Amino acid sequence: MEVFTIFPDVVEAYCTTSIVGRARRAGVVDLRVHDLRSAATDPHRSVDDAPFGGGAGMVLAPEPVFAAVEKVDPVRPLYLLSPAGRRFDQRVAEELAGGVEGSGGGAGFALLCGRYEGVDQRIVEHLVDGELSVGDYVLAGGELAALVVVEAVVRLLPGALGNEASLADESFSDGLLEYPQYTRPAVFREWPVPEMLLSGHHSEIARWRRAQSLRRTLERRPDLLAARGGLSEGEQRLLEEFGLA
Ligand code: SAM
Repeated sequence: MEVFTIFPDVVEAYCTTSIVGRARRAGVVDLRVHDLRSAATDPHRSVDDAPFGGGAGMVLAPEPVFAAVEKVDPVRPLYLLSPAGRRFDQRVAEELAGGVEGSGGGAGFALLCGRYEGVDQRIVEHLVDGELSVGDYVLAGGELAALVVVEAVVRLLPGALGNEASLADESFSDGLLEYPQYTRPAVFREWPVPEMLLSGHHSEIARWRRAQSLRRTLERRPDLLAARGGLSEGEQRLLEEFGLA
């Protein structure tokens, strides 16, 4: 996995901490961060220029960006972070993780962070293999978007999380939002934890959590339920059983 950015220190600092940092140290993923200015030839190591045709802001220029990428010859596919890209979600994260898994952590994909008003279109057409967007809003640069992608993918890699089971029933894993979670104390202020969770009946707890997960998805993200074909008869019965229908 590789990241090209004009702020390698920022990306590197985040990627030495938490799950991503631990996964790197454990050899689960080989993540390399490259400075887009590394191949710039002028004294200021410029990577941007004014847009042809006028307009506000600057644009990442093709020469330094092509040179920085070609010097490294990164693992492919190389994705540009861009608001115009394919929307990044858990399915895409799983797809990307599939390309890293089993490769010794060294293969996978590379990310190119834009800045300023964006990048010269020839970078889009002749250097990258695709574009990824993290949502319908505009960030100042691709770094935070790249970190979103890196973290969402790395935590899916075997060995990245302390407890692999936590991947199994979290949000989006089967097209549903996760059930509500509680920890100690059993009563905080005047708010008790649902009694079911204190019952010790693991199979009942699993059914209750499933019902909560369905209810929450129905309320907050009916589009997710619709995408998996709505509620099955069994799921409808489960909701009724727990008074959540
Ligand atoms: N002028 C561009 C436009 O209107 O689409 C926005 C450029 S933005 C200020 C600078 C860079 O931030 C982009 O080149 C891209 O790399 C990154 N970026 C901004 N929003 C993003 C998003 N939603 N997803 C992925 N990358 C984003």
